[in-house]
Amino acid sequence: MNPMMEHVDVVIVGGGMVGLLCANALKDSGLHVVVIERSEGQVFESLSMDCRVSAIVLANQRILEHLGAWQYLQNDAQPMHSMKIWDNQQAGGIRFDAEEIAEDALAYLVENSRLIAALQRNLLHSDSIQYLCPATIEHIEWLSDSVHITLDDGHQLSTPLIVGADGARSWLREHAEIGVYARDYEQQGIVANVRPLIPHHGVAFQRFTDAGPLAMLPMKNGLCSIVWSQFNEEAEQLMALDDIGFKEALNMSFGPVLGRIEEVGKRAAFPLKAQLAMHVVRPRLALIGDAAHSIHPLAGLGVNLGLRDAMVLAQEIVDANKYGEDWGELSVLNRYMKLRMPDVFTVMGSMEGFHRLFTNQMPGLPFVRGLGMKAVGNSGVFKHLLMKNYTGLHLPVPKQIV
Ligand SMILES: Cc1cc2nc3c(=O)[nH]c(=O)nc-3n(C[C@H](O)[C@H](O)[C@H](O)COP(=O)(O)OP(=O)(O)OC[C@H]3O[C@@H](n4cnc5c(N)ncnc54)[C@H](O)[C@@H]3O)c2cc1C
Repeated sequence: MNPMMEHVDVVIVGGGMVGLLCANALKDSGLHVVVIERSEGQVFESLSMDCRVSAIVLANQRILEHLGAWQYLQNDAQPMHSMKIWDNQQAGGIRFDAEEIAEDALAYLVENSRLIAALQRNLLHSDSIQYLCPATIEHIEWLSDSVHITLDDGHQLSTPLIVGADGARSWLREHAEIGVYARDYEQQGIVANVRPLIPHHGVAFQRFTDAGPLAMLPMKNGLCSIVWSQFNEEAEQLMALDDIGFKEALNMSFGPVLGRIEEVGKRAAFPLKAQLAMHVVRPRLALIGDAAHSIHPLAGLGVNLGLRDAMVLAQEIVDANKYGEDWGELSVLNRYMKLRMPDVFTVMGSMEGFHRLFTNQMPGLPFVRGLGMKAVGNSGVFKHLLMKNYTGLHLPVPKQIV
């Protein structure tokens, strides 16, 4: 082997939330892991907080706690005690309370940049994780027993496994010539932080409009983070409004549940797409997070799916190492894929189903939707099941962290 080449056990491309969680899960495994991140993260500040926010469901919050990263987040994370969902055209709706499943919170709202910082900080004392940033891959050579990587600074690495955690437009996935099944909603998700008149008391509100959901997620300091799905044209018009105009449009659409929206921060808009990689694993390659799948943010589950990918893949790598297997081989990577696909398909399918159900304005359907929500609201067992599914508590926790 080329003497300039350094051998490492795993290379993770992408130091976003998912890639960094994978590195955190491997930090005590004794394996030498290199994370390659292209850029210092860009923070979209809105009322002095990052307007990219994630609802980290309870099971994933517990994983972060086990891994030691939660200690850096707990003061900044806002517990979501309840979630209220209602339809544009129907009064009533449905409310999910953490109390009903004997928990304190269904999820925690965290600014993406803070989660990334916490995961980075948790790696600082690990000798086995190397975080290279800013860095990109210039060349990859796929061999039968390893992958050879040349970075933009000339640094050369050889590894049995490269993990693609480089987001929905994954460079690595494209380089491996893996296509995607894609569904363009022709919509954008407008995000911003806003201050309502009435305190949110840890309740997340989601109103389904004709274009899709308008979510008002509880944040620290009395703020709410909005995720407003709108068709491209309407989204562009909303983005072009001044703050007063946008505030009026938001008040009109959201209604008086939290009183008037008093203040709106800077907005950003993201195209909404659902996407699934045609292959999630290949010999010597595994895709995790948005590189493998991305979904409509209507239930705020996208990164949660990715965090679960990261944990399960880490578990399979650790197990393979323990039993003397080569963790870059397809037989090992297939185990990761088979464990993850049922969850991924269920969540992707449900998001598509909810989106179609709530944006369809067929005569009579809003009435049926209203009845359906009432029925779910009154059905103890089914409602509990939905909450357990949302929080991820129904899924087995990887052995490595229990
Ligand atoms: C409007 C909106 C709201 C959302 N709200 C929620 C929510 O409430 N809850 C939730 O669970 N999900 C939510 N999501 C989804 C969530 O943001 C994504 O699922 C999540 O960001 C995916 O994380 P990731 O680490 O896989 O990818 P990314 O966050 O895209 O991170 C990829 C990383 O890889 C790096 N990278 C890219 N290319 C390269 C390269 N060639 N070399 C090196 N590094 C590279 C990038 O710089 C980045 O740091 C939302 C999405 C949108 C659009």
